[in-house]
Amino acid sequence: MGLREYLGLLLSHELEEIRRAGRYRFLRTIWTVQSPRVVLDDREVVLMCSNNYLGLAGHPRLMDAAKRAIDLYGTSAVASRLVSGTMRLHRELEEALARFKGTEAALIFNCGYMANLGVISSLVGPEDVVFSDELNHASIVDGCRLSRAKVAVYPHKDMGVLESLLKREGGRRRLIVVDGVFSMDGDIAPLPEIAGLAEDYGAFLMVDEAHATGVLGERGAGTVEHFGLTQDVAIQMGTLGKALGGFGAYVAGSEILKDYLINRARSFIFTTALPPADMAVALEAIRIVQEEPERRSRLHDNVAYFVEGLRSLGFDVANQHTAVVPVIIGPEDKTMEMSQRLLEKGVFVAGIRPPTVPPGTSRLRVTLMATHTRGDLDLALKAFEGAGRDVGIFGG
Ligand SMILES: *Cc1c(COP(=O)(O)O)cnc(C)c1O
Repeated sequence: MGLREYLGLLLSHELEEIRRAGRYRFLRTIWTVQSPRVVLDDREVVLMCSNNYLGLAGHPRLMDAAKRAIDLYGTSAVASRLVSGTMRLHRELEEALARFKGTEAALIFNCGYMANLGVISSLVGPEDVVFSDELNHASIVDGCRLSRAKVAVYPHKDMGVLESLLKREGGRRRLIVVDGVFSMDGDIAPLPEIAGLAEDYGAFLMVDEAHATGVLGERGAGTVEHFGLTQDVAIQMGTLGKALGGFGAYVAGSEILKDYLINRARSFIFTTALPPADMAVALEAIRIVQEEPERRSRLHDNVAYFVEGLRSLGFDVANQHTAVVPVIIGPEDKTMEMSQRLLEKGVFVAGIRPPTVPPGTSRLRVTLMATHTRGDLDLALKAFEGAGRDVGIFGG
């Protein structure tokens, strides 16, 4: 047996184990724009698991902006920002992001995952301590690992434990990092309390606004704006790939922070810059987010309507304050069966199970869009009712 065959054998054994544990994953293809109704594999379904919260991913203004940018500036930045990759649109977008977030400056990263790796691993090192909520996103977890700092994990939103960890741990530098909106639970971090603790115990505060940008705050700037804490949070990061309907990410904060990251963040330094079209899309999205606050209200109305509907059907809905609505099922097999039944009834909702969430809390992670119609939502509620009955979710 050659080495190539041997590798194939090793990997297929491992895949078999994943399958046996019922945790095998595969990719499904969407053939259309990521709108409320999509063609998935070979049929039309209501899409209830994309992060296109404001419905911007197929917005004509964003699509036109991308085309214009390609006509003017081509298809690629073809180098790292520090070599020859910084283009006019990078500067313009960073200025617009800083204004949007209410910070001195902003720096673009190629995606949120890379932003979290770059920021955390450049700000802290082996002599430092990171304080991290147990439900923080995997990219934060990986950023902490890469930094080799000591990581003090506290139970979800448990301010008592966070405070005792802050008391107990030393560290040259101390960094609290937290999701503003938790990606699998949709709940909002208690930022005023966290900011108070950060101040009391001399820790820097970093907030991941991936699911809050465009969704929370009067201007849609996120959790930090929602709580009026712009002056208290040293580092805000967020993605351009969810509510903003594009691709890429940002870190917003002081000029000095930006300067430091340009010099130290390896995931900024050693990668080709985002292409012009992505920049133009984000610029247009930030305009729409601010010009059309009604998108945010429509999103929140849809969430309220859908949650009310699910609860009256008897489902355990854990949260209703953001676009992420987790419907807790519990056992993994029931969750996946429920997801399959929903799909058969024309609704696409991904089942989320361990290791993404703790055992026993498997769930359907429903996400809503401003552009879902009442018709879409009613169809989905009917499907939930039928699927719940098929799978035997309800007592009665
Ligand atoms: C999606 C997400 C990221 C990663 O952002 P990308 O731009 O998709 O790489 C980071 N943090 C959280 C909380 C997220 O949900």
